[in-house]
Amino acid sequence: MGGDKAPRLRLVVIAADEGGPRLCRGCGDPLMPSAKSTAVFCKDACRSRSWRRMRRTRARTEAVTAGARAECPQCGAEWTVGVDRLVSAVYCSPVCRKRAWHTRRARADEG
Ligand SMILES: [Zn+2]
Ligand SMILES: [Zn+2]
Repeated sequence: MGGDKAPRLRLVVIAADEGGPRLCRGCGDPLMPSAKSTAVFCKDACRSRSWRRMRRTRARTEAVTAGARAECPQCGAEWTVGVDRLVSAVYCSPVCRKRAWHTRRARADEG
């Protein structure tokens, strides 16, 4: 008794890509078995959402590469034009815009 002391083999199985169900790159749900072998999204909504995200990422990269930076005239904070803020943004935040407005107004009152 007790002679059965063979070490137990612990098998670690790493699932191959072709093994289990393929997952949607958009939402992570498993794709339908009927999905094409090239399909990576479970539905059109996932595809377009992912496409939009990719486009936004690319726009940001391009803006950063182009060096489209703006600076807040009030506090000097910097941001990337058209990405962090609107292209038309002048101040970094509503606080700075309000402060600048008050400053202008105070000067106008003096003069
Ligand atoms: Zn999906
Ligand atoms: Zn500012």
